[in-house]
Amino acid sequence: MKECPRCHCPVDETDNYCRACGRSLRPGTGFLFTHSGIILLAVVLGPFALPVVWMSKLISTPAKWIYTALLALLTVYLIHAFYQAYLLMQDAAQMMLGGGF
Ligand SMILES: [Zn+2]
Repeated sequence: MKECPRCHCPVDETDNYCRACGRSLRPGTGFLFTHSGIILLAVVLGPFALPVVWMSKLISTPAKWIYTALLALLTVYLIHAFYQAYLLMQDAAQMMLGGGF
């Protein structure tokens, strides 16, 4: 007989969730591995959500590729945005240093 790692109630081998407290009993099947969980993680962590996408057993492989592509696009966009901000700051610094010429 297995027991729940959180509340130590006896659980069945075939249960995905603890009947007493609702904890996920299989790796890769918690809330974070659902579509909603992954979208939430992607918003908070950006590209760092990618390992969770591939550990998930709840979403299909095509869905994993879609998330991977979206996260890659997000990463490219973020790098571009940071680069633009960097250029703007350089311009601003030059204007301050070279003001009057
Ligand atoms: Zn439990």
